[in-house]
Amino acid sequence: MSTKEILEKQHLEKEDIKHLLSTTGREMEMLLHKALEVKLNRLDNYVHLRGLIEFSNICRKSCLYCGVRSKNSKVERYTLTEEEVIECARLAHQLGYGSVAIQSGERNDPAFVEQITRLVRRIKEIDHGSLGITLSLGEQSDETYRQWFEAGAHRYLLRIEASNEELYYKIHPHDEQHDFHRRLACIDSLLNIGYQTGTGVMVGLPFQTLDNLADDLLFFRHKDVAMVGMGPYIPHPDTPLYQYADQIPSVKERMELTLKMIAILRLMMPEINMVAATANQTIDPLGREKAIAAGANVIMPNLTPNQYREDYLIYPDKACVSDKPEECYTCLDIRMKAIGHQILYNAWGDSVAFTKKKK
Ligand code: SF4
Repeated sequence: MSTKEILEKQHLEKEDIKHLLSTTGREMEMLLHKALEVKLNRLDNYVHLRGLIEFSNICRKSCLYCGVRSKNSKVERYTLTEEEVIECARLAHQLGYGSVAIQSGERNDPAFVEQITRLVRRIKEIDHGSLGITLSLGEQSDETYRQWFEAGAHRYLLRIEASNEELYYKIHPHDEQHDFHRRLACIDSLLNIGYQTGTGVMVGLPFQTLDNLADDLLFFRHKDVAMVGMGPYIPHPDTPLYQYADQIPSVKERMELTLKMIAILRLMMPEINMVAATANQTIDPLGREKAIAAGANVIMPNLTPNQYREDYLIYPDKACVSDKPEECYTCLDIRMKAIGHQILYNAWGDSVAFTKKKK
């Protein structure tokens, strides 16, 4: 079947996905064009913002790709004060971002759980609950997820990173702390509780095949998630996975592969939210714009106080690390207009797919 014929299909099978992932040149452009067309038809040209607050880089885990893994002694550890978090949330509200996302290394101790509960409640008090809240705080018990949901968080992002078990254990230690099946159970738990659940993967990992990537997309559809974040893998020199950095696709190939993943998923799940990850912009100055033009519709501008940002580098040379939130605000607005999109201010920007399913 030709690329053109596949792009007309209503339901993509694994072989179709693999075909589309292998496209180059004009055929790849056809795919990206089709994804943009689908997005504009179903979701209009709106881009939603989530003001990102990197709450703490203290983590109990040691994922093999991550710059803030607990075994990296070069990182200076920090945790924002509650007042700093609330200040970030107030700034998000003032700038009209509509939503915040609290991200942190993984901790499960009662003090952490209670602190997050308090923070969610306090953010909810800002202008009578006008800010949407996404959490990205790793694997937690069902009880903890429920507690945070009841406090007012309504979206949760837990990337599977690799939906293939074998690949998962090539990028995570194979031990009790990094259990593939527990991660799957956590995603199920979030879906059951009623969160708008997001997941995602890295693209261009060592050992990753097109077959793995096609399975990742099928996994998202099978789980019927409300949002997905996918970005190119960027090797961090202070991590064990860095030893394989010479075995991964080139920067250009990883960027193109990421764009194709976004575009194919937009065809498969036309109304979910999809993040244009900062990692795209790190490897390509126009990476975020390209991701939006390929079907993504969410951007997460960083609100973390600047003095902490250098210590939250899951991958190196992260884009916009030195930008002040106010600069980011203007820059993003101009960048989105330049590609015919508009930021929807003062709105939660919920996943349309999720909202329809709930009705
Ligand atoms: S990826 Fe997340 S859970 Fe893994 S080491 Fe990094 S911060 Fe911790």
